[in-house]
Amino acid sequence: MGIAKKVFGTTKDGKQVTSYTLTNKNGMEAEFIDYGAILVKLWVPDKNGKKTDVVLGYDTVAEYEKTTTYYGGFIGRCANRIGKAVFTLNGTNYELDKNNNGNCLHGGENGYNNMMYEVETFEEEEGPVIEFSRLSPDMEQGFPGNLDVTVTYTLTHENELIIEYLAVPDKDTPVNLTNHAYFNLTGHDSGTILSHKVRLDADGFTPTDAQLIPTGEIAKVEGTPMDFRTAKTLGQDIDADYEPLVFAGGYDHNYVLNTTGDGIELIGELIDEASGRKMEIYTDLPGVQLYAGNFITGSAKGGGDYVKRAGVCFETQHFPDAVNHENFPSPIVKAGEKFDSTTIYRFIW
Ligand code: BGC
Repeated sequence: MGIAKKVFGTTKDGKQVTSYTLTNKNGMEAEFIDYGAILVKLWVPDKNGKKTDVVLGYDTVAEYEKTTTYYGGFIGRCANRIGKAVFTLNGTNYELDKNNNGNCLHGGENGYNNMMYEVETFEEEEGPVIEFSRLSPDMEQGFPGNLDVTVTYTLTHENELIIEYLAVPDKDTPVNLTNHAYFNLTGHDSGTILSHKVRLDADGFTPTDAQLIPTGEIAKVEGTPMDFRTAKTLGQDIDADYEPLVFAGGYDHNYVLNTTGDGIELIGELIDEASGRKMEIYTDLPGVQLYAGNFITGSAKGGGDYVKRAGVCFETQHFPDAVNHENFPSPIVKAGEKFDSTTIYRFIW
């Protein structure tokens, strides 16, 4: 139990990166680094009590610095895509970093996953806690206003990884914070997640154009390969000849959750029958990006390369490009108000 600290590496500009491992009383371990507030490892027992690391990641800071997969990273100021990297707020046009086909993805070239954070740790009754904070300056990535940001991870003795986001701007600004963990409940380097089952309590999703920018439509999942209201394997329909799946090369879509909007609710689960591990997902946000790792390439922790679709993400979020669609829930946080949101991944084995 507790929190152990060690040197993880050094950034390209010479800053020391420290890793912190949180352990709960059931033997779960979650390791984070102060570069990018990244979840680098997550050890979870299986049905026989054998522990495995169930999140994808890298061994070195250098790989996290040039990542295009965002393994385990803290994502901000605006997760997912903003079309043409522009938006208008209070009569002013803002131009963001164009890092994805002329669009802005995950905050642009210098995302929150590429910053150093102040760290505080606590031992609470519910489990060990680590808090990462930073001031994101006015016009960073092109967004208005200073933003005081804190992300807090708690590994509870109930086997939950609780992620709490708190952000307070001094000007009106869009805020959409998430975590980009890729889960593979058989083990991070055990092949694809196509035999994992997913259930998502969502009647709708937001279709996109070929560049994965939402059209503004909210489509029903009923009668389509997008339907996860009853658990099915990720592999069952992922390669169906269905335009949204063809555009994205598989699942990479924002689901419109059937939540009440009142508090933190169970929205779905990931089930791996092989290991007996299961993960429940809870959030208070209106959407979740189901991303099946269609673009995964490159090196893996422990050597070798990950295969395409080696992990699956459940990025709880405001809808992508919400800042440009009036019919989507607004991601704007007013000056002096706060963005306060919680996502929970709960493990069962
Ligand atoms: C997006 C993918 C993108 C990935 C980053 C996900 O959140 O939906 O389209 O490729 O992040 O690698």
